[in-house]
Amino acid sequence: MKILKFGGTSVGSAQRMKDVVKLIVSEETKIVVLSAMSGTTNSLVEISDYFYHKNTAGALEHINILEKKYYDVASELVNTQKYTTKANEIIKERFTYIRSFSTAVFTVFEEKAILAQGELLSTLLFQLYLQELGVDSVLLPALDFMRIDKNSEPDTAFIAENLAKQLAENPNHQLYITQGYICRNFYGEIDNLQRGGSDYTASLIGAAANADEIQIWTDIDGMHDNDPRYVEGTHPVPFLHFEEAAELAYFGAKILHPTCILPAKLNNIPVRLLNTMQPDAHGTLISMQSKKNSVQAVAAKDGITAIKIKSGRMLLAYGFLRKVFEVFESYQTAIDMITTSEVGVSVTIDNTKNLDEILNELKKLGTVTVDADLVIICVVGDIPGDNVGMTAIAVDALKQIPIRMISYGGSNYNISFLVKSADKVKALNALSNNLFNMSERQK
Ligand code: ASP
Ligand code: MG
Repeated sequence: MKILKFGGTSVGSAQRMKDVVKLIVSEETKIVVLSAMSGTTNSLVEISDYFYHKNTAGALEHINILEKKYYDVASELVNTQKYTTKANEIIKERFTYIRSFSTAVFTVFEEKAILAQGELLSTLLFQLYLQELGVDSVLLPALDFMRIDKNSEPDTAFIAENLAKQLAENPNHQLYITQGYICRNFYGEIDNLQRGGSDYTASLIGAAANADEIQIWTDIDGMHDNDPRYVEGTHPVPFLHFEEAAELAYFGAKILHPTCILPAKLNNIPVRLLNTMQPDAHGTLISMQSKKNSVQAVAAKDGITAIKIKSGRMLLAYGFLRKVFEVFESYQTAIDMITTSEVGVSVTIDNTKNLDEILNELKKLGTVTVDADLVIICVVGDIPGDNVGMTAIAVDALKQIPIRMISYGGSNYNISFLVKSADKVKALNALSNNLFNMSERQK
């Protein structure tokens, strides 16, 4: 069994949906996970925002625009009168439901119910189109088997058990379709796996069904060795280790949601990143294999704030770092990078929601300095502690750029540099030139 996930742009129009069909019709058994059509979840967020602000007219205006888009898609997608009628019924039903919130109290529960409509619409219409084509497929409702627990973590036992049940109730089919992103929570309410969570759905399903492979289809030919938005002539990386892919996804590569790697890694299921526009391209294969002693890619994570805490009390003391970390923990703020010296520690965060409170607490521990507007430049590859010279090449690339922090040795897969946002593009290009030896890029 294979799991194939198609993202928002891959199902972003009637034509793109038709292209997807060509990629999924084969003898192999597969579960196809679909996102909402691109732009839909953003619109639903906006509609919810109007409902929160009790601006019903504003909400209705946006609902009408979105609904019209779906009628247009449907008319292009299906051909016969019978299926056009069915498609229009589906759309009408979904949008009547969305409109029904204009008279209700609006809280986060209602918002989650609205946000789920994007994936429901895309899968219902897609399934209908398959029916019209006469392609045998079964729509498995994600709300019947995807579940998160009290801590908003996937309930893997529940998912495995209930997915198996759904599959057993619908035996002898090659093609199953389901929704990405949406799930139920511990209380049975409609919930989701956070924005971009369809990749996560695919990998959770892959793990639950013990799939042979998880394929993430987007519209780029795999994970690139640098950010194509800022560096010219980047190349897809053919093979990545799970750890390398996780670092890259977390530190900026937009193609894959970082949460997607863990379930695949734990169950040793290869993840293949493929391009719907170029289906024969190799893409990137993420697995347990790594290319020894080589840097695979560079990525950047924006919007970083560094905090330095200096204290005489740190000298020869134990427990100081715990006190520092506890402050961040109590404000539920994740730390990305850490560097220490005997008298101080620097950490970086990207969530500054509680920065003022955090700083107030830290000031009890030492002298605090804050630098905003930084980026983490992350060099990813197989970089074992006994390598000779790999760090030097990276540092040498950045010799013209002021470096605020360096983190090396946290894992065998990453060297991170913290630089000013203004130096990001220069740093990314310099690293590509030195590491991948392609100086012609600079021309
Ligand atoms: N539709 C959801 C979003 O836009 C989930 C996804 O596309 O992965 O965030
Ligand atoms: Mg995505």
